[in-house]
Amino acid sequence: MEMARIGATAAGGCRRLALSDEDRAARDLYIDWCRSADLAVRIDHVGNIFARREGRSPSLDPVGCGSHLDTQPHGGRFDGVYGVLAALEVVRTLNAHATETEAPLEIVVWTNEEGARFAPSMLGSGTFAGVHTLDFALTRRDREAITVAAALESIGYAGREPCGGHRYRAFFEAHIEQGPILEREGFTIGAVTGVQGLDWYDLRVGGEDAHAGSTSMAARHDALAGAARMITAIEDVARDHAPHAVATVGDIHALPGSRNTIPGTVEFTLDMRHPDAQALSDMGDAIRAECATIARQRGLELGIDSVEHTAPVVFAASCVASVRTGAETLGYPLREIISGAGHDACHLAGVAPTGMIFVPCAGGLSHNEAESATPADLAAGCNVLLHALLDHAAGTP
Ligand SMILES: [Zn+2]
Repeated sequence: MEMARIGATAAGGCRRLALSDEDRAARDLYIDWCRSADLAVRIDHVGNIFARREGRSPSLDPVGCGSHLDTQPHGGRFDGVYGVLAALEVVRTLNAHATETEAPLEIVVWTNEEGARFAPSMLGSGTFAGVHTLDFALTRRDREAITVAAALESIGYAGREPCGGHRYRAFFEAHIEQGPILEREGFTIGAVTGVQGLDWYDLRVGGEDAHAGSTSMAARHDALAGAARMITAIEDVARDHAPHAVATVGDIHALPGSRNTIPGTVEFTLDMRHPDAQALSDMGDAIRAECATIARQRGLELGIDSVEHTAPVVFAASCVASVRTGAETLGYPLREIISGAGHDACHLAGVAPTGMIFVPCAGGLSHNEAESATPADLAAGCNVLLHALLDHAAGTP
C-alpha cells in the first residue's frame, strides 16, 4: 500500500508508466528497501534492477524471482508490484530467520513490462533473454518520440551492467491471476503450467457491390453474408478445440457501408489463442480451410494475413512441482492453471527453468483501477514463493 501511493489515482488505482517520474520514485523506494535488507543492487543497460542475497556458494548461478513496478495508465495496485514485493518479503523472512541458502538469490524488477508507454511489452525481460537486441530496446519511442535510452537517462536508471548473459538456476514470478478462475473455483494458489500462444490474423473477403433491390439472391456475391458464415465457422473451430481454445472476431468493416448496396468488401480481425503450439497451428489450418470453402461456395475472394504470432510457453516441470509441493506443505488449495496474459516469466522461460505462482484477484479484474486481492491470498502466494525458492536454492525450509 505504501508503494501504491506512488502514482496513486483518485479511483484507487495506480499510474506508473515505465521510466516516468512515478516509476523512478517507485524504483528509488524499492532500492531503499532492498539495501535495508542487505541486498547488493545492480542495474543493467535497460534499467532492469537486480538485488542479490549471497548464498553459501557464491559461484552457483542464483535463483531469481521478481516482476515489474510499471503499471497501465489506469492500472491497479497489484499487477506486477505484487511479484516484486513478494520477492522482497521472502528475502526479509530469510533474513529474520537467519536462513542461508546454498545458491544466491536475486530479486528482479524488469523494465517496461506493460508496454503502455513503450511497445513492445515485456521489453526489459525480453532484452535480458536475448529476444530483443539492446539497440532495439534503447531505440523504442513513446508517443512524444522520447526513446527508452533518453527516458532511462532522465530518471537516472541507465545502468552499467550489460543486459543478459548471466544465468539463473531457476526463476519464479508471483502474480495476481488477472482472471476469475481461482476465485470462482475456491483455490488459493494457481501453479501456472504455461502461457497460451497467440495468433492474430487480418481477413479480407472480396465480393461484388451491387444494388440491393435489383440483384436476385442467386446472383449476389455478398461479402458480408460470406464473412458471417466464416465467423460462425471460426467459433466452431474454437469449440472443436475445447476447453483451452479461444477465438475472437473483434473488429469488422463492411464496405461500401450503405443500406441499399450489397457489401462487396469485408475486412475483419481474428485473435486466436491456445496453450499448445500444435493445437494453435491446427486451428489456423482449420480456419483457413473452412473460410476457403465458404468463399468458394459463394464466389468470393479470400485473403488471410498473419499479423502476429506468439508461441505458447510451457513452464519447467521442476518449477511447477516446487509450487505444487509448497502449496501442499502449507495446506493451500491449489489448481494448475494456464495464463491468459503474457508475463516477464515468458521470456525468462527461454533462458532458465521458470515457474509462476498465481493468487486470486477480486472478480478476476485487472488492468483496472479497482484491481484487488486479499492480504491472506497475497501472503499465501508469498509463502509458496518462499518454499519454491528454497527448493531450488537448496535451502532448508
Ligand atoms: Zn503484470
